[in-house]
Amino acid sequence: MKLVLLGPSGAGKGTQAKNLSRKYGILHISTGDILRDHMKRQTEIGRKIEHIMDKGKLVSDSIVINMVKERVRMEDAQNGFILDGFPRTLYQAEVLESIVGQFNGVVAINLDDEIIIKRMSGRYSCPECGSVYHVNFYPPKEQGICDVCGSDLIQREDDKETTVINRLKLYHEMTEPIKSFFKHKNLLIEVDGIGEASEVTKNIIEKLGEKA
Ligand code: AMP
Repeated sequence: MKLVLLGPSGAGKGTQAKNLSRKYGILHISTGDILRDHMKRQTEIGRKIEHIMDKGKLVSDSIVINMVKERVRMEDAQNGFILDGFPRTLYQAEVLESIVGQFNGVVAINLDDEIIIKRMSGRYSCPECGSVYHVNFYPPKEQGICDVCGSDLIQREDDKETTVINRLKLYHEMTEPIKSFFKHKNLLIEVDGIGEASEVTKNIIEKLGEKA
């Protein structure tokens, strides 16, 4: 099974990708996580993209496409995978099939901007292990401390409100047109991102079943 997850940051893509990767026993590939790992390790790519990521802008197509190409060739991706955060531009969508081969579907999670802004402004992350928390919806057991590794939590530069608003603008301009591209190919599955994450997962699984 090869799936693609589309949706603005804050619509719950990461959580859905984790749930679906568990359900189908396939690898979760998040381009955002791979890019953040480059920044943490201060690789050449990491140093190049730091200022772009912090402002919530898009990293160049060539960097991201090469990264995905390499990742899907690895052994642990041979049983299938779910792509979270890729494609994000029409060009990335156009080359997708040449990179990953045939895939089962593109799941688009839809959610209103206002709800996303509310969700994102309470988000805190662990700089060490990447775990993500929310002050209201998913607080850590001890305030400001990561449950998984005990590190101090931070508000990521790209989770601050002005960055979130810029990112949403960019999503509507650059990424949303991808939906009609896949709709024409009869690959698009649209779901509502509102409500409990487990309900959204159930809805996605049902719709994937209908399509199979
Ligand atoms: P995410 O964790 O998916 O919200 O991604 C975090 C950031 O990584 C985005 O705001 C972009 O700066 C960058 N990024 C992730 N995936 C892509 C992509 N497919 N194309 C361009 N930039 C990306």
